[in-house]
Amino acid sequence: MDWKWKTIIEPFKIKSVEPLGITTRAEREAALEQAHYNLFNIKADRVLIDMLTDSGTGAMSAAQWGGIMNGDESYAGARSYYNFEREIRSLTGFAEIIPVHQGRAAEKILFTVIGGKGRFIVSNSHFDTTRANVEFSGAEAMDFPVKEALDFGRPAPFKGNADVAAMERFIKEKGARNIPLCVMTVTNNSLGGQPVSMENLKAVRNLTAKYGIPMFLDCARFAENAYFIKQREKGYAQRPVKEIAKEMFELADGAWMSSKKDALVNIGGFLAMNNRDWSAKARQLLILTEGFNTYGGLAGRDLEAIAIGLREVLDENYLQYRIRSAAYLGEGLLKAGVPIINPPGGHGVYVNAKEFLPHIKPQNFPAQALACALYLEGGIRGVEIGTLMFGKRDRNGQYLPAPMELVRLAMPRRVYTQSHIDYVIEVFAWLARHKKQIRGLEVVEAPPILPHFTAKLRPAGKPQPAKV
Ligand SMILES: *Cc1c(COP(=O)(O)O)cnc(C)c1O
Repeated sequence: MDWKWKTIIEPFKIKSVEPLGITTRAEREAALEQAHYNLFNIKADRVLIDMLTDSGTGAMSAAQWGGIMNGDESYAGARSYYNFEREIRSLTGFAEIIPVHQGRAAEKILFTVIGGKGRFIVSNSHFDTTRANVEFSGAEAMDFPVKEALDFGRPAPFKGNADVAAMERFIKEKGARNIPLCVMTVTNNSLGGQPVSMENLKAVRNLTAKYGIPMFLDCARFAENAYFIKQREKGYAQRPVKEIAKEMFELADGAWMSSKKDALVNIGGFLAMNNRDWSAKARQLLILTEGFNTYGGLAGRDLEAIAIGLREVLDENYLQYRIRSAAYLGEGLLKAGVPIINPPGGHGVYVNAKEFLPHIKPQNFPAQALACALYLEGGIRGVEIGTLMFGKRDRNGQYLPAPMELVRLAMPRRVYTQSHIDYVIEVFAWLARHKKQIRGLEVVEAPPILPHFTAKLRPAGKPQPAKV
């Protein structure tokens, strides 16, 4: 889009609306107490701007809702399945297209087939569910991010890249026969939604091909990644994003996708590959746990909506609005004195709470404290990625500081407008001026596994002394 104006124009008009959860500060204060300072326990209708996740929270288009009515609900051989298969095959080029109910189902099936004790999966960075499924199979998940990924404040164009040299050293050390797969996560969700360059994908492709290791894409945000390549990588400025996306898939031997992200739907996923031996085994497991080959745990209408969403997401006007919105939020926060992972990723902005609230010790969960303050003052819901989520404790039950204290503000697709984002920036600017008043928290009770979902907290006993 040839757009010279500063306003981010949402490239859609609104046909159906849903009220926001408007509450008073007193109501939010009560809700927070009732929720034990855990935002997963807040009822969604008490949230004004919900930035908990971009997964499954997007708005479908009129064309997708039309597709929903046209969905073919036949058990076997449904027309909607063939639309789904055709769309994914033409985008990815893979022969075997297996529908699943969401991304982690593809991961469970794939790593049951190829994982197991004594094996290693290498990656730029595994997403949580990927890591969990690799480890559940008995295999080990090894991450090889580039160094600049961990230097949050310093901008770099492709912080999602893999460190190819480190990956090669590991392959040599463990032996290629013990490494059934390399996974490139695009964009790199665990490290701020940062993109991977085509150059890096090619380098990883060459490396893995040299050792006979297949490379798959965990492609939940493939379109956002392709758009970043167009914006930032030499030689791609004039290429259509769709072609760039196809080039990414051509480098890979397979892929899986959580369609709850870049397929612009609320549920769904797929596993795709050329290897017929693996796909035959995967289909056995599919029938066991998900469903028959032509629906895989989804309704026909879901398959139809995914097929349409995969076309819509490659509309460059949409992608410009999408990526620009995250950048705009990031710029606004920086201007308000709020440190972030810079530059912002594709699906949201990650606030560096460690730097923002130096007066709160890691044991008092600065990122959780910030997330709660954000809800209390503005009704905005983000998610902590820090000491509470990592949940590691020493022998005395004391929390061990996580390497990072972040609040992720994820952006649902096609849901919020520029004025919603302006509001988020305004609340943050207020918090920046009053941050000394934000107090740490302490855990009342927390389970050993995935504590952040169900932990109960309360304001820490006494105010923390301010120190840097
Ligand atoms: C969301 C996500 C998954 C898991 O997908 P679900 O649909 O939530 O099961 C896997 N990998 C990445 C990169 C993701 O973002």
